[in-house]
Amino acid sequence: MGNAKTNPAEIFGKYVFSDAVAKTRLSKATYKSLKKTIELGEPLDTSIADEVAAAIKEWAIDLGATHFTHWFLPMTGLTAEKHDSFISPTGDGKVILSFSGKELIKGEPDASSFPSGGLRETSAARGYTSWDTTSPVFVKEGSLYIPTAFFSYTGEILDKKAPLLRANEALDKQARRVLAAFGKSGVKKVTATVGPEQEYFIVNRDLYNQRLDLVLTGRTLFGAQPPKGQELADQYFGTLRTKIVDFMHDLDERLWELGITAKTKHNEVAPAQHEIALIFDPANVAVDHNQLVLELLQKTAEQHGLAALVHEKPFAGVNGNGKHINWSLSTDEGENLLDPTDDPGKNPQFVIFLAAVIKAVDEYAELLRSSVASAGNDHRLGANEAPPAIISVFVGEELESLIDAVEEGKKFTSPEAKKTNLDVSSLPVITEDKTDRNRTSPFAFTGNKFEFRMCGSYANVAGPAFVLNTIVAEALSQIADRLESTSDIEKASLTLAGEIFKAHKRVIFNGNGYSDEWVAEAEKRGLPNIKNTVLAIKALLDEKNRNVLEKHGVLVGKEIDARYEILLENYAKIINIEALTLVDITFRQLVPAAFKYAKTLSDSIASFKAAGVDVSGNTAYLEKVLGLSKSIVAKAEALKAAAEAAGALETNFDSALAYRENVLSAMNDLRSDIDTLEPIVPADIWPVPVYTDLLFRV
Ligand code: ADP
Ligand code: MG
Repeated sequence: MGNAKTNPAEIFGKYVFSDAVAKTRLSKATYKSLKKTIELGEPLDTSIADEVAAAIKEWAIDLGATHFTHWFLPMTGLTAEKHDSFISPTGDGKVILSFSGKELIKGEPDASSFPSGGLRETSAARGYTSWDTTSPVFVKEGSLYIPTAFFSYTGEILDKKAPLLRANEALDKQARRVLAAFGKSGVKKVTATVGPEQEYFIVNRDLYNQRLDLVLTGRTLFGAQPPKGQELADQYFGTLRTKIVDFMHDLDERLWELGITAKTKHNEVAPAQHEIALIFDPANVAVDHNQLVLELLQKTAEQHGLAALVHEKPFAGVNGNGKHINWSLSTDEGENLLDPTDDPGKNPQFVIFLAAVIKAVDEYAELLRSSVASAGNDHRLGANEAPPAIISVFVGEELESLIDAVEEGKKFTSPEAKKTNLDVSSLPVITEDKTDRNRTSPFAFTGNKFEFRMCGSYANVAGPAFVLNTIVAEALSQIADRLESTSDIEKASLTLAGEIFKAHKRVIFNGNGYSDEWVAEAEKRGLPNIKNTVLAIKALLDEKNRNVLEKHGVLVGKEIDARYEILLENYAKIINIEALTLVDITFRQLVPAAFKYAKTLSDSIASFKAAGVDVSGNTAYLEKVLGLSKSIVAKAEALKAAAEAAGALETNFDSALAYRENVLSAMNDLRSDIDTLEPIVPADIWPVPVYTDLLFRV
């Protein structure tokens, strides 16, 4: 491990066709036209496509690319790519390298094997990808990557990117209407900004490979609690282990080369748990970048003899992995619309944007909850570590006083920020924040942005981002309707904000979101508490939620129906794979190990007996091992039967619910016996690495 590292400024964006590269590689007119499309969302002038494609091709070949791929985000939640080489035969046994404007703009991958939720017959395979000009193309592993949106022959969208792009446009439009009412009609674009903080675990690769459950499902399906967990709080922000330092550095460099602003890295709460945060980007770029972070986390770890676990709950008993989505709104002039400024009481524009977010989150809490629902995230939400499943908004003391004042029509003056040097004259004087943080809130105001903390680590950020953008667009559109014709914008906006706060302040909660009191209080306030994915997905059937998505052109009815089916189906498949994996490990590894140990024990007992030793008090372990083995076999059979029964049900909803209610509980039942057996079987007989190995032996 050397101390000297590469200067990030020298490698940053090396493999990205960035604005700076475009400027040097394109003619002036083409560069200007493309920039307008990228920055202001103006339609792409297709007559420039050939020139842009040729420039991108030359640039990519200079960087060693031989192929290009349209890169998209199908409903699997992962990324998809199919590579075509640039070669084109010249008829004399040679090739030239070519890449046309058409190939840049449009792709035609066979779509038949991606989940479509019944939107498309398998026989109707045609699908298209369309260049997302606002997310830069890049070169990775010898291919030119072109970020795209993915849709079917009949025009229905089949991916996670297109609804986000549509929601971005809706939000831009409605936010600019509100700004115009404040006299800011010069603003050309409002962009939702997103900065995800990504948690993950790192374990030793050899140990990882010995656990079929980690390899196939991303989480441990069994494992007794280790003697040491996270109770000493010695991991959080602790010094990084040498192997981790090297891995993280390599990861940073690869991300920087791809123009990804890896900024913060540190140890997280649980043993072997870490976090990486990027500097925020426009929402759709942030989505692409987060997918690349997930991919490169795993690939870089593998190259270091490590494995990155990005599942929401790799280990029971210690913290799981979340992904905090920091979110704000920014204008093309660089104004952050959620910046309270020094005296928010004198900033009605901030107050109205704050009101819009609070209104949106309260009115569409179920839809927002559904956007973070997944089988993996069910282990976190509401399970006393991550935010609860109840959506509430933390605003902090200062803004709460502001909200009260606005509601009562009173003036609000911001308190002076306190300054301190801790009474140590050698320490510099620092200004304290006016508000403390609250780690238990699922949706927290953190200075000049909101932080949505319910997202799972493995989830594609596009889902929560497009829902958030859509519901805030709706709140802003109602606000714009009221404010557009007013002559006294200051007064009208504060009056309206007061009404909104009054109607929606039930969603504001500054206390401890993990407490039982809050669960009871939230129920009194009428806030939904949706405990699992299967129930959360039902939000997509609700008229109100469908209307808001349709009104803003984000998804049409058919597309919403398809998503509903896909999400349920996906949930059922995940639990089914987990069940089958646990059954497989049980019969092929764990039960044989138990019998092996039982045989060793009984052989020992027999030989002691033969030698005339009194063994009458020493057969308890043997009986315990045999008893547990018998119970484990029976429970594994029951699990298999439960999974088969759930899989045989007619509708996706019934099936998913049966997996949730019957299969998960059968898995837990089986697990509890396995976890009782594990600590009494000798280490050299237990066939797989245990929690202590995975969490502490990197
Ligand atoms: P905190 O300590 O409150 O989490 P940080 O400054 O460390 O705040 O930022 C955490 C994340 O929030 C980073 O990913 C950062 O890029 C992101 N972030 C900061 N400002 C914004 C913004 N205006 N919009 C979206 N994300 C933001
Ligand atoms: Mg944060």
